[in-house]
Amino acid sequence: MGAGLFYMASLLVVHEVSKAYPGESLGAVNSLSFTMEAGEILSFVGESGSGKSTLLRMLAGLLKPDSGEISFQGKALENPEEQLIAGNSAIKMVFQDFDLMPNMTVAENLRYPLLSYDKVYANERVRELLQLCGIEELAGRLPRELSGGQQQRVALARALADEPDLLLMDEPFSQLDPVNKSQLLREVLRILKAARVGLVFVTHDTRDALMISDQIGFLKGGKLLQQGSPETLYRRPENLDIARFFGPINIFKPEAMAVQLPGLFEKVRERRATAVGIRAEDVRAGEIPGLQTLKVSVSDTFFLGDRFSVEGELAGGRPFVFQANTALGEVGNEISVSFSLDSLIYFY
Ligand code: ADP
Ligand code: MG
Repeated sequence: MGAGLFYMASLLVVHEVSKAYPGESLGAVNSLSFTMEAGEILSFVGESGSGKSTLLRMLAGLLKPDSGEISFQGKALENPEEQLIAGNSAIKMVFQDFDLMPNMTVAENLRYPLLSYDKVYANERVRELLQLCGIEELAGRLPRELSGGQQQRVALARALADEPDLLLMDEPFSQLDPVNKSQLLREVLRILKAARVGLVFVTHDTRDALMISDQIGFLKGGKLLQQGSPETLYRRPENLDIARFFGPINIFKPEAMAVQLPGLFEKVRERRATAVGIRAEDVRAGEIPGLQTLKVSVSDTFFLGDRFSVEGELAGGRPFVFQANTALGEVGNEISVSFSLDSLIYFY
């Protein structure tokens, strides 16, 4: 620190980490690098088998990378065989099955990780955790007397007991119904921000990731294809896989557009893009002045509750998907749809 320069280490730095399971020729995680700052929520999304759980298990210190380095708060993360006790007290994994002690009350479950602490402190910390996680009224109950969402809150409170700096969660809410899940996600977000705890969150549900993350990483074949804010991944995905993973989208190669949509074709050529995407929700039914218009022959309509998803074909048979506020009549109807050039996603 010669020149009075203080260097604050990132919470987590992962540098070219790879892991292949014995007997597997394709690595589960391949030369993956990313950085995460204290208190951030970083989600990893990707299809099943993309390496999310393998990555998380390496971060938890439960699995040893074949190569590469992981450093946590400026120090190398210890490999499983170097640790005296499995795991790291500053990094806590929240398991999918909650893993609560069945014969202990909620308060006793929270006190359990605090056994080595002073009694007065432990009791005070349990009270704080109950309050922080909004579960005070559950303190005397046994795990079997709790709903799934309540058990999840208790598991989260217990993971926070020892004041970790980083939590790891692998698809933790997959058993919850959508309403409870969305409520719980907001709650988790509030609790982690209040406690200034970072989270690496693994999910295949893009809505969950979009809702709570500061950063999202997209994994495919064990590689990190893009990392950025939720809006960046949604609005400016760097490749077609990422764009498609986040929701229905129409992808066009410029050649296919030259005749039907000369304005679009020109834009794509100007930017030297290799393809262009239009998200289903950015398309509106009807011919709207100032927007690009296409004719679509309707082949299927699905009711989604708040809107309809419409599938159809453009002249020449190319499929086209969009959303509408009303059902659009008979299959086979030809209708006009419009979209703004500003909503296009370019691929290079
Ligand atoms: P995800 O969590 O994204 O579904 P995983 O990390 O579980 O992905 O798996 C990544 C790849 O590694 C997949 O091809 C999977 O089949 C393989 N894999 C995962 N666990 C093991 C294991 N214990 N032994 C061998 N291969 C595994
Ligand atoms: Mg997994």
